[in-house]
Amino acid sequence: MFGFFYCRNAGIFTSLNSSYSLSKTSFIKGLQCHKALFLYKHYPQLRDPIPAARQALFNRGHDVGALAHQLFPGGVDASVGLKGAAIAAKTQELIAVGVEIIYEAGFIYDDVLVLADIVVKTAEGWNVYEIKSSLRLSRTYYNDAVLQHYVIAGAGLVVNDFFLAHVNPDYVRSGALNVQDYFQKVNVTGTVKKYVALIRKQVRELKAVLDAPQIPEVAIGEHCFSPYECDFKGTCWKNIATDNVFTLTGIGRNKQAEFFNQGYVSIKDLPENVELPKSAHLQWQGFVTDQEVVRTAEIIAMLEQVGNHALLLDVENFQPAIPQYEGCKPFQALPFAYSLHEWKDGNIIKHRVFLAEPGMDPRETFLQEFLSDCSAELPVVVFDASAERVTINNMIRTFPELASQLEAISARIVDLQKVFASGAYYHPRMKGSYSLKSVLPAIAPDLNYDSLTVQNGSHAMQLYSRLQTETDLFELATGREQLLQYCETDTLGMVRILNYLHDLVRR
Ligand code: SF4
Repeated sequence: MFGFFYCRNAGIFTSLNSSYSLSKTSFIKGLQCHKALFLYKHYPQLRDPIPAARQALFNRGHDVGALAHQLFPGGVDASVGLKGAAIAAKTQELIAVGVEIIYEAGFIYDDVLVLADIVVKTAEGWNVYEIKSSLRLSRTYYNDAVLQHYVIAGAGLVVNDFFLAHVNPDYVRSGALNVQDYFQKVNVTGTVKKYVALIRKQVRELKAVLDAPQIPEVAIGEHCFSPYECDFKGTCWKNIATDNVFTLTGIGRNKQAEFFNQGYVSIKDLPENVELPKSAHLQWQGFVTDQEVVRTAEIIAMLEQVGNHALLLDVENFQPAIPQYEGCKPFQALPFAYSLHEWKDGNIIKHRVFLAEPGMDPRETFLQEFLSDCSAELPVVVFDASAERVTINNMIRTFPELASQLEAISARIVDLQKVFASGAYYHPRMKGSYSLKSVLPAIAPDLNYDSLTVQNGSHAMQLYSRLQTETDLFELATGREQLLQYCETDTLGMVRILNYLHDLVRR
């Protein structure tokens, strides 16, 4: 079942078999769950649609992978216009004619196809580089590398060293992007060579799964989430209660799985004496009693911090994996928009919204507008202060001369989310979550994001990132409008929450 036979004298591969039954993706899927592998291969139509956030990760991986080609310029991409085994055949041809740097090089061995991001010929053999668009390596990346090495070496390529290259978390852009410094290469040759026997066994097992006459019986559980959320949950979980114990917040997957394995499917099924951390207990109690929790004194204390006149602020950041501007690190949060409602005695006095011009460094214009709009000596109310604090701290680092003004704004921040996160207010419709998108349907169900094209921060980030390189004026104008509507809805939601809490303590 060898994919290629490598003739060392001639320096070329001879194709013996161009078929394969496993790929890197299906192998990793099979390690997670045999049923997922079987469905992926034989019932692909059952896969759930790819969520926008995961698609964004794929796109990021593609961009970082393309950038990595510059580590070894002048190579040939074996995958252009081809798929599967044809890429392996093309790789064979390229090696045969003496190409020494190949991108997306394909290899087949033991019925497994892998695509190596970059292979580079050296005097000692070939170096293989697998590119990861993350700041650190994970167990899955090592599994991936072990399989790649097994297949590539098995196919006959003399592998000298195998590297996992990931994004360097300490890289800071200074002038033009320095691709060599942006990536951190980790030589994993010693590790990947140790697991040949294990991989051979796993490949054999997974091939047997694929050859089985029927779908393997695998119960749902913790494995449906790790290392990735399975894209067959729509099939396997369709009859499981939506309020299942895997939605309990504030406890780990292993604890959720423990409850599930004890026979508790719905949160309501948990016994009265169950030991849960505070947030999960509130969630359980909400399901059982269907009553809201109101701790008036704590809510009043927060409302006193806000007073009767305040600025309600929401900032949107985007986090490019590849730093685009001077002084930026990979994934650094860059503010590109904010919405600000001035609120007084329950009414909106003024609304301001800012959206940076896509395609330009947003920081300076953002800062000018932000300082001007937040200059009034009023409390600055936010929902989950972490994003705003990161924004302000990054701005202080970039513009230290304005530190005192920024610190003054930071000192006036009041975090509205604390009322919910502390359990001072809880509504069963929040389903254990304290995000703005979970709190609003509970207390202002008419104000929802369903009619908006942009429905969450991650979507806003993706849209703005796409607009960075957009040249179509209609697309730019439409995208701007969608982002502005989204930002405004966030602070309008905060107005509604603040007014709701005032009404609540007056009851
Ligand atoms: S949802 Fe769970 S049980 Fe079903 S295929 Fe995926 S991992 Fe396996």
